[in-house]
Amino acid sequence: MALEIVQVPLLTDNYAYLLREPKSGLVGIVDPSVAAGPLKAAEDRGWAISHVLNTHHHWDHTGGNLEIKSATGCTVVGPSYDADRIPGIDQEVSEDAPFKFGATEAEIIFIPGHTLGHIAFWFRKEKAAFVGDTLFAMGCGRLFEGTPEMMFASMQKLKKLPDDTKIYCGHEYTLNNGEFAMGLDPGNAAIKERMDDVYARRAESLPTVPSFMGEEKKTNPFLLAPDVKSFAEVRAKKDRY
Ligand SMILES: [Zn+2]
Repeated sequence: MALEIVQVPLLTDNYAYLLREPKSGLVGIVDPSVAAGPLKAAEDRGWAISHVLNTHHHWDHTGGNLEIKSATGCTVVGPSYDADRIPGIDQEVSEDAPFKFGATEAEIIFIPGHTLGHIAFWFRKEKAAFVGDTLFAMGCGRLFEGTPEMMFASMQKLKKLPDDTKIYCGHEYTLNNGEFAMGLDPGNAAIKERMDDVYARRAESLPTVPSFMGEEKKTNPFLLAPDVKSFAEVRAKKDRY
């Protein structure tokens, strides 16, 4: 049986994710901005949260850590680079220290740029990557702490993920990202086609996340940027958009 993944919408546009590994019954929550929503989502399913997984230190990804930990006694897992900025951290992970989760495992991809310690949890067997605020559907995170060089390198790492990998990001930003992408590259038919689907989903308040890496490679302007210079230009334009 595969990893069970439940999307938990929080705040205005944040996504946390409940993960249940069926063999062990372990349950993780990825990037909980708050505690109540994730605790209820787990309780509704009769699941007990055993782990919090953080991709980076921002409050809208870690704000629920301490309350969930005190309610459940769970283990908080986060990037070793940012251990001092992850509330309640118990287990530090890095590219050299993957995350074992019952019968499965997440490889850690170090993808700095949005923050200096940002990581992705990549469940290779399950074809699922939790990328926080580094890669968005048709977008990428702002460079709050890192440089364009760092973020471009992180994009190149993520581009190596297989096309059928589901990309679970931290926010529902796809409509805005896609409109920006269409303006940047009006002749790109793949973006137009994808946006038809995005408009239809958002009209019904349905999520556009996760997406597949294969479609990101064709439609995400930050993955399409051929070099650091063009990446930095696109990022600067998006900052002013
Ligand atoms: Zn963030």
